[in-house]
Amino acid sequence: MPSFTAYNILEVCRQPGCPVCRLEQRYVERYLDNQFYENVNNPDWRNLLRLSLGFCREHAWLAVDERLGDALGFAIIYHDAIGATLECLDKGFPPPTRRWAGRLKRIPEQVRAMVYRAIYALTPRKRCPACQKRDEMTSIIVSSLVESLEQQEMAEALQASDGLCLPHLRLALQAVRDIPSCEMLIAIHRRKLETLQAELAELIRKHDYRFSKDGFGKEGDSWLRAVAMMAGNPKSRQ
Ligand SMILES: [Zn+2]
Ligand SMILES: [Zn+2]
Repeated sequence: MPSFTAYNILEVCRQPGCPVCRLEQRYVERYLDNQFYENVNNPDWRNLLRLSLGFCREHAWLAVDERLGDALGFAIIYHDAIGATLECLDKGFPPPTRRWAGRLKRIPEQVRAMVYRAIYALTPRKRCPACQKRDEMTSIIVSSLVESLEQQEMAEALQASDGLCLPHLRLALQAVRDIPSCEMLIAIHRRKLETLQAELAELIRKHDYRFSKDGFGKEGDSWLRAVAMMAGNPKSRQ
């Protein structure tokens, strides 16, 4: 009987794109939706968002575009984050670490302290909480996928899917603990890359004016599938 996560992986293997990207995105959307709905007034979450200066660019706009939070929720969070930034601009700040000292070297000495104070105030002290949660979830999904590969059902589902994107394939390879799983992951994805490359070659060939009457077959969207394979699924709702 597959675990809940393995069951979810099997389900998304039947959908286009990298199954891990898809589950990851679904999880992040649920997390943001839930946090906006239940935790906007939770002091711990508010404090975390003060330190992270709100969300990263990707997750801030995901929450806006997909309406995972409402105007009031955003207003409360960003009122806090801007307040924390302004307060930090006015207050004392710790001495630069060695990494900072290296970066500041190129700035003229007379302005260095002022620049450092401003950059310190404008720099998040914590990661975006959605990035943090996403990474925790990705590691659970990838481990579950790799552990389930010895079951024929999972191996066949992955084989029939569009395959993992390269970033998630690298993570999966880091999670393998035996030779058969490693060989299987490489063999499945080598075939997918070869097929995709052949489709791209066909698309390029048909773009040549001499073959323009051929029309495009299943390779018509291969360029989009290639981008997704190499970089991961698009971040918009899938
Ligand atoms: Zn992926
Ligand atoms: Zn983020």
